[in-house]
Amino acid sequence: MVDASHSIRGDILGIEMTGVQFSYRRGFTLSVPAFQVGVGEHVLLAGSSGSGKSTLLHLIAGIENASAGEIRIRGTNILGLHGARRDTFRGKNIGMIFQTFNLLQGFTALENVMMALMLAGYSTADQHSRGQTALQRLGIKDPHSPVEMLSVGQQQRVAVARAVAGEPCVVLADEPTASLDPANARAAIDLIKEAARAAGAALIVTSHDPSLREVFERIVDVSQFAQTEVAQ
Ligand code: ADP
Ligand code: MG
Repeated sequence: MVDASHSIRGDILGIEMTGVQFSYRRGFTLSVPAFQVGVGEHVLLAGSSGSGKSTLLHLIAGIENASAGEIRIRGTNILGLHGARRDTFRGKNIGMIFQTFNLLQGFTALENVMMALMLAGYSTADQHSRGQTALQRLGIKDPHSPVEMLSVGQQQRVAVARAVAGEPCVVLADEPTASLDPANARAAIDLIKEAARAAGAALIVTSHDPSLREVFERIVDVSQFAQTEVAQ
């Protein structure tokens, strides 16, 4: 369940960006007048390498700081949250899946999932039960196996379990298929979509791979938001 105290405007949209501006110091700018993703909606964020896909996800997650506008996650403007409050909000409401999984080596599958739940503010007992359930749902039979002992496919399942174990309202997957062959890429997308559906989350998957277009009902090209200033 999403903590109702975080929601100040009802729960119509998973993600709502309005008038968002962001620039890296050297040239690249994202300008997002309006972008919305409904609860339960799955979006492919397309665009070539360097077009701003990761940056847009980092803005939605509040990892990068927009200089103007609003970024509402189920009604809460994350730009109004700072420091530990933003981190806890992100942990509770946003699940992230990375291309290289970013699992903590030397820790078990269960410990990896529990750590994410701990950062989201769950009690130790909840971390344990939610972690077990998420891993079981994703077909990990040995939750006590160190992650480096698992196959690449199993590691990806652990990464997906970690992203959805807290039932976030938003799941962000950044190039989750970039290191996979086409058959495994399709299976990974199916897995992520199913996990997001089960969590009832809004899902954004980024990819520069055109073959994923057929698997998504909605495709947004990030280049419409991007501007690169030519160096003088
Ligand atoms: P994509 O994920 O689509 O490949 P990115 O969002 O990573 O694109 O990058 C968009 C643009 O911003 C690129 O031109 C990249 O070089 C630049 N960029 C990315 N990260 C940084 C950073 N930390 N500092 C400065 N420029 C960056
Ligand atoms: Mg990227």
